[in-house]
Amino acid sequence: MNTNQEGYFGPFGGCFLPENLAAEMRRVAEAYRRLKADPAFLRELSYIRKHYQGRPTPVTFAKGLTSQTGGAQIYLKREDLNHTGAHKINHCIGEALLAVKMGKKKLLAETGAGQHGVALATAAAYFGLECEIHMGAVDVEKEKPNVTRMRLLGAKIVPVTFGQQSLKEAVDSAFETYSKEYETALYCIGSVVGPHPFPTLVRDFQSVIGAEARGQMLEMTGSLPNHVVACVGGGSNAMGIFSGFLEDSSVKLYGVEPLGRGGEPGNHAASLSYGTPGILHGFKSILLQDASGGPAPVYSVASGLDYPGVGPEHAYLKSIGRVTYDTVGDAEALDAFYTLCKTDGIIPALESAHAVAYGVKLAKKLPPEETVLVNLSGRGDKDIDFIVSKFGVR
Ligand SMILES: *Cc1c(COP(=O)(O)O)cnc(C)c1O
Repeated sequence: MNTNQEGYFGPFGGCFLPENLAAEMRRVAEAYRRLKADPAFLRELSYIRKHYQGRPTPVTFAKGLTSQTGGAQIYLKREDLNHTGAHKINHCIGEALLAVKMGKKKLLAETGAGQHGVALATAAAYFGLECEIHMGAVDVEKEKPNVTRMRLLGAKIVPVTFGQQSLKEAVDSAFETYSKEYETALYCIGSVVGPHPFPTLVRDFQSVIGAEARGQMLEMTGSLPNHVVACVGGGSNAMGIFSGFLEDSSVKLYGVEPLGRGGEPGNHAASLSYGTPGILHGFKSILLQDASGGPAPVYSVASGLDYPGVGPEHAYLKSIGRVTYDTVGDAEALDAFYTLCKTDGIIPALESAHAVAYGVKLAKKLPPEETVLVNLSGRGDKDIDFIVSKFGVR
């Protein structure tokens, strides 16, 4: 919805790239426009989702969390039960299938903590494509298990050794390779960010979350949820679940950004709450920027949420007031992490724990006849060593 031909959501979005890559983005947009109306493409996608990814993922009534909280009934959409343990595989499979249909041989991307790299390397292996992942040298050291996973899956890792040797430099490095190889490679963006058509395309591939959850809530409770909550890094899992309910004015939607250690610059990654309009990585949105207009330093205990921007459709949905955006900090997210393990036997990703924390706060204020649906974007196995070494077992 709300996207015109240039890929704008109100004033946000667009494609701000050098002409050779902008022309390639137009070819990707055209190929995608054709394929998304092609029944054979859609059939193939749903076959893979069912027989490889493990979809549909269930909705779980969080019995223990609801009774401990008191108030509204809390439900969880279980994206943690996807193959590879999070929602990112939804768009990586879609992007890889698009690459195959466009005749590309290689998938190219950057990764920060390695989650996008692992999901993309998985999709590349499934389709027999080459995969090249650019990663800051600092992150390669920090995220050893994910680096090992990507190598096992057959991906080539390119450690980036200039500047801060982190995510921003990894993006620059991957774009440099892409500008030389776009005829044979597809750059696969890891969220609803980047130049048109990626915010639309990634949202469409993630919308399976919302479509499933809508039917599952109707089946389980006889009505739509009253409230839907998701965490927002770049915003793909949130757009995925929101898109099932955007047209239902009775359903209130909440995006939860990471407040990290607090509202001072450098201590959080809450772009919509503290940011200003600007252009980054080929698109216009609300960004956290430093004094010179570059991306500001960001922080969250959940490394999948620490991006200094947000998808353009979120910036638009905030501007029209359709979605409420709020924040949850490290401490509250950690509490929710420990709580859900014990109350319902589910170890959530630290990213998802931000949404759980907000869902609990919301449910507390609501009557028991109302329902809160929380998108559990991923499982927390990747986080347990870090959490237990730093904070112990509570
Ligand atoms: C990457 C990640 C996120 C954040 O990405 P979005 O594009 O905002 O969804 C959230 N949860 C998990 C488990 C992730 O791996």
